[in-house]
Amino acid sequence: MARAPFSPGAAGARALDAADELRNLRRQFELPHERGRTLTYLCGHSLGLMPRAARRVVDAELDRWATHAVDGHFPDERHGGWLDYHTQFAAPLAALVGAARGEVVAMNTLTVNLHLMLATFFAPSSKRYKILIERDAFSSDRYAVESHLRWHGLDPKSALLEIGPRSGSFELDADQFDRTLKAEGERIALVLLPGVQYLSGERLDLAAYSGWAQAYGCRVGFDLAHAIGNVPLALHDSGADFAVWCSYKYLNAGPGAVGGCFVHERHAEAHDLPRFAGWWGHDRARRFLMEPQFAPLRGAEGWQLSNPPILSLAPLAASLELFATAGLKRLRRKSERLTRYLEWLLMTELGERVRILTPRDPARRGCHLAVQFDPPPRKAQTLTARLRAAGVVADWRQPNVLRLAPVPLYNRYRDVYDAVTALKRTLDA
Ligand SMILES: *Cc1c(COP(=O)(O)O)cnc(C)c1O
Repeated sequence: MARAPFSPGAAGARALDAADELRNLRRQFELPHERGRTLTYLCGHSLGLMPRAARRVVDAELDRWATHAVDGHFPDERHGGWLDYHTQFAAPLAALVGAARGEVVAMNTLTVNLHLMLATFFAPSSKRYKILIERDAFSSDRYAVESHLRWHGLDPKSALLEIGPRSGSFELDADQFDRTLKAEGERIALVLLPGVQYLSGERLDLAAYSGWAQAYGCRVGFDLAHAIGNVPLALHDSGADFAVWCSYKYLNAGPGAVGGCFVHERHAEAHDLPRFAGWWGHDRARRFLMEPQFAPLRGAEGWQLSNPPILSLAPLAASLELFATAGLKRLRRKSERLTRYLEWLLMTELGERVRILTPRDPARRGCHLAVQFDPPPRKAQTLTARLRAAGVVADWRQPNVLRLAPVPLYNRYRDVYDAVTALKRTLDA
């Protein structure tokens, strides 16, 4: 057996924390607590923690509203004005997803953006009318896709293709993807896949999937809900037509926060593509002329509909600031090590009782690990309730999957240690 890569026990975890160059970032977040005890939070894949600065930036916008009312829309010496408020997010979001500024926009929420992108990039013809998704797609993505098929008068039974994992595995079967393209590629209008699979935690090679599908003339979109802020991304180079994401998971922008959207540069001026339009996507300089003729802005901004909810955008600024401070390289380095530590502890502490569903290669996953138990807990509710009583917040998915996400911005090695210790006690009980 290889030499143990980490030192055991709470002392081992403390030593890792002491050597962590990003350890001070944790202080920039509000830590959830209960009856005076700070919880061990490994649930950032569901709702990221609140950056402390969020309160200040939201307060600033409330103050502006209170003081300036409608004048708040316009720039003054202290503020760029709400009219262009969303534009401050383009550069930091572009850096996170590996895109040019003009390719990204902060707007709406994930499923809304997915609908907008489907309206543009799913234009079925009698020859090419199918959509390919993964069998275990997140429910909302499936609902959106099926509803577009029906909207076009197509039957999902014949027009929706699915690829799944190889049997006995949780990793997407790339060979099946290849076979499906060979058999159906000419009939597939759109391929929609995740950046990181929400349940298994598998990270897909976006450029590879995108390249395979585009070789058959399919359009390609990615759902980055679990990828943005979690793994390095190179969306532009992947060649994908579009991507969508939410901002309340790894982007820590708060419940229901404004999400985002990527449209590849090659479509920046494709004004002939069908789209659902609104005045915020209209030529900025002429927006208030209220002309009848819609003239979309160049790039992703041209898909905006409404003036954005400033109060749901503001916290994103607080969070993106922390990403910039940390640096994506350093975050990823810590993330890989933190998750490897979680993996190692699960293996050494729980051994045969736990099966890790997430790929073992750090390059093929983000921070979260999905685990199953053998035998499965008799009552899942009891397991999660006991974990919760021990102060550990993780989440359970039916029938037998626990997701644990150590987030490098605010989680410590000690959190991972405490979570696995509690898990072991819970399983022993
Ligand atoms: C979290 C998540 C969603 C949520 O969609 P909203 O529109 O933000 O409610 C959708 N799809 C995936 C894959 C997700 O992980």
